[in-house]
Amino acid sequence: MTAQNAVTAQDAVTAQDAAGGPLSREQQAMWLRERLIPGTAMHNLAAAHEIEGPLDVAVLTRALRALAARHEPLRTSFREAGGLPVAQVHDGAELELVTVDATGAGTDWRALAEDEAGRPFDLSAAPLMRALLIRRSERLAVLLLVVHHLTADAWSLGLVWEELDAAYRAFLHGRAWEPEPLPVTYRDHVRRRLTGGAGRDRGELRSFWRERLAAAPAFSTVPSDRPRPAEPTHGGATLERTLGPDLLDAATRLSHQRRASLFIVLAAAWTAVLSRYAGRADVVIGVPTSGRDDSDVEPLVGLFSGAIPLRVAVGLAEPFQDLVMKVRRELFDCLEHRDVSPVELVAETGGPRELSATPVYQVLFNVVRTGHAPFAPDGTSCRYMSGFVGAVQTDLSLTATTPNSGGLRLQLHYSTDLYDAGTAEGLLGHYEHFLADALSRPDVPLGDLRMTSGQEPPPAPAASAEGEAPTALGLVERVMADRPDAPAVIDGNTVLTYRDLDERAAACAARLRSAGLGAGDVVALHLDRSADLVAVMLGVWRAGAAYLPLDPGHPPGRIESLVTGSGAAAVITSEPRPDGPAAPRVTVMTVGEVMAGTGRAQPHGAGGGGPRSGARDLAYVMYTSGSSGRPKGVEVPHRAVGHLLRAMARRPGLDARDVVLALTSPAFDISLVELVLPLTVGARVVVAPPAARHDPEAAGRLVRDHGVTLVQATPTGWRQLLLADPARWGLRRVWCGGEALDAALADRLAGLAPEVWNLYGPTETTVWSLAERVRPGRDHVPIGTPIGDTSVLVLDRWNEPAPPGVPGELCIGNAGVATGYRGRPDLTADRFVPDPSGGPGAVLYRTGDLVRRRADGGLEFLGRLDRQVKLHGHRIEPAEIEAVLREHGDVRDAAVVLREDVPGDPRLVAYVTAHRAGGAR
Ligand code: AMP
Ligand code: MG
Repeated sequence: MTAQNAVTAQDAVTAQDAAGGPLSREQQAMWLRERLIPGTAMHNLAAAHEIEGPLDVAVLTRALRALAARHEPLRTSFREAGGLPVAQVHDGAELELVTVDATGAGTDWRALAEDEAGRPFDLSAAPLMRALLIRRSERLAVLLLVVHHLTADAWSLGLVWEELDAAYRAFLHGRAWEPEPLPVTYRDHVRRRLTGGAGRDRGELRSFWRERLAAAPAFSTVPSDRPRPAEPTHGGATLERTLGPDLLDAATRLSHQRRASLFIVLAAAWTAVLSRYAGRADVVIGVPTSGRDDSDVEPLVGLFSGAIPLRVAVGLAEPFQDLVMKVRRELFDCLEHRDVSPVELVAETGGPRELSATPVYQVLFNVVRTGHAPFAPDGTSCRYMSGFVGAVQTDLSLTATTPNSGGLRLQLHYSTDLYDAGTAEGLLGHYEHFLADALSRPDVPLGDLRMTSGQEPPPAPAASAEGEAPTALGLVERVMADRPDAPAVIDGNTVLTYRDLDERAAACAARLRSAGLGAGDVVALHLDRSADLVAVMLGVWRAGAAYLPLDPGHPPGRIESLVTGSGAAAVITSEPRPDGPAAPRVTVMTVGEVMAGTGRAQPHGAGGGGPRSGARDLAYVMYTSGSSGRPKGVEVPHRAVGHLLRAMARRPGLDARDVVLALTSPAFDISLVELVLPLTVGARVVVAPPAARHDPEAAGRLVRDHGVTLVQATPTGWRQLLLADPARWGLRRVWCGGEALDAALADRLAGLAPEVWNLYGPTETTVWSLAERVRPGRDHVPIGTPIGDTSVLVLDRWNEPAPPGVPGELCIGNAGVATGYRGRPDLTADRFVPDPSGGPGAVLYRTGDLVRRRADGGLEFLGRLDRQVKLHGHRIEPAEIEAVLREHGDVRDAAVVLREDVPGDPRLVAYVTAHRAGGAR
């Protein structure tokens, strides 16, 4: 700081002095925030005593006034003069004790107290303290004191109660109250602090904080239930819980061993829990400074306390006792530099200065130990109570106190703008468990400590007798037998009844068998979406084989590599084409050829000359992007397909009255739900011609012409369809899935049909695994809860079930899990892992999706743990493209990212570095 600045500061103090008194640095920051966000109760402090026994109201009033006379801040108001805030100390103290009667039945005394505590103060009118006496019965009353934080801090409140007790006692017995005179006034103290030359160089102080907070997270990363509102209400609530004396003893013991304070031990546990909630090591919290460094200010009421940021890197491998030592070091270091004002901190961090959040840190930790004598006038028994203020300054604030009654009282104040009560309760419970575990095992790595008791509800039990459940083919054949004349598939002018479909599938199966194809074989389908495609899929299954869908629109090179890579034994194409897929030892057949001889093969149930597929047999192979440079083929067994279709028919639900539009490319697994699911419940499929995919009006015509009730698409697909005003289509069901569904799109979809669902699922767990009914007006659309016998686990970095609210990797088990990646045991072992909660041989698929469990049990999608992206519904591993780019002779290295430079127009962008000309290759 320059001499020039110092003079200016001195001038300002003098100028303010003339008009009134200057404000301390802490008061200035608080006053600024009050001016920016006026009319809230966020800086109100309140505490009460429940008093049983006789109480003399006149004497109590006198005692309160004596207190205000003694302490200047209790008769100070604030105003602005010449652009600067000034504190005006008044002589008189018109403090009133307001008495209200709550003896009537049904009178809610607590609501009265909360109203009073939550009423904003007018800063220009002294006193900034209110006293309310609520009479609950003849012998029972509650005395509530509410002060503005500008005039008092937590220590001051303890002092006020102590002195109130002494003054009341004296007056009641007709004596004078004669406390020790105050050594210094609050005004004197502020002047001393502001102008005192003592203290360190401000430039050094500021550079300390600049370095300390470099690249710190701008906002608290504790996931919230709702996004931060642009205009916060600062509404808050408080949860309280008292931990037993054993825990306090253990914490005290550790603090003695480590020569740390109780504060440090409790704060260390808080940072560890926050780091788990945030899923990151870097944690910043605000910790209090008492501000009463000089002993002569100890007996003063006033705002002395402030807060400074404490930044801790919480390691996974370090034991809790080491974290305690780390927090101790950091804290001492920061306290050395505590004489920094909030305004300077903000200037040094350059972080966001939004009204929606407190700058620098949004989570506080505090231990309050006043050590003051309790308020307990003669002949009464009193109980201290707090937590009346329904307003908060920060997102979360944990305060520990050591009440006279023993144990450790925890109070969690949380912003109700951001958090639900359930989430806050979870957090407090996790803190308690973590603290207990950490104190009992301070020498084990933090990563091994638990936030839960391990008493979480077990996941759904494994599916029963999987062999018994009917396969998809079995389900369709049942309908074929029951209602052969019902229309099954409509494709342009073609209408296939269930009987037609049965016969075509039978013909196809017969042809395949005669070509020597059956169980264990993969038949590639190089076919567009059509009625024939449906018949062929069923025919392949009936022959005991599995199919591999290929998109005829894909480049021949890719198609060939999939045919070869999958080891397909045959390819069925629409037309014999010279450029059609070909590979050595692969039989190529046309659809016409395959369908020929209709009627000669035995339809359903007749067996037809070969073994039928069992639950464990392969139903299809579906290729998806692979990070190693080549796509990976997911092998899906009949068990998983049968489960999917049975589960989906129940929830989200589909029945024989439904008419389903098949719009998705068969090379996407979700087409299964459009092409086969309807046939398992006797519903009707309307096949959209390939061109309809990019023509929402054409899709709309199909919907209206055929009375379609269900349309399924990805969010990208729905954005297109919305151009054709689907609200007029009269749909019964809208299904959306495959990519994150944002709230804005969800709101639009919600108006399209009575039943709108968000569906989630990776190819590896068979199309869809979770479902959530979409309701309008929500900030976030969950991905919901498991369908059918699907089980889900959310595993944290320590491979333990993450508690509700805590992000972790979504792992899916049980009925829907695929067999693995075709011909890639290495990749399979990496992602399909033993299921700790399942029976022997049970497998979990690690999705790589980051989720967290909401208080209502549903899951919320947060993003990816790896670099996988979705572009227009396509799943893409940028590493796959990078690997291919690197194969080019001129490319030394490559990086691929998804960019959305123009909103609504995401693109994959590749960056390459070339080999230097003439350099080694
Ligand atoms: P795919 O194998 O092509 O179905 O892609 C699966 C991946 O798509 C999942 O692992 C998620 O990352 C993403 N995904 C699928 N459905 C949803 C959804 N409803 N919300 C968010 N992400 C989704
Ligand atoms: Mg999927």
